[in-house]
Amino acid sequence: MFDPSPQSGPWEPSGPPCKGCRNPIFRDEPRELLRFAAHPEHDLESMNGLYHAECAAPLLSIKRALDMLSRPWG
Ligand SMILES: [Zn+2]
Repeated sequence: MFDPSPQSGPWEPSGPPCKGCRNPIFRDEPRELLRFAAHPEHDLESMNGLYHAECAAPLLSIKRALDMLSRPWG
């Protein structure tokens, strides 16, 4: 009988696909979980999720900039 499920192995995708490139994140690949805080002007929460580390890198720098901008002053 044909079994469509692939054998478990180190290259089996673990968890949901990357939110950036939509490709599966394999078990051995570096990953980054992004958590944007709610923002009144930008729908950043929809970007929350799991990314490849390299797909998350540009988003992380945006996040850092936004975190600095949203820091309360005084
Ligand atoms: Zn990716």
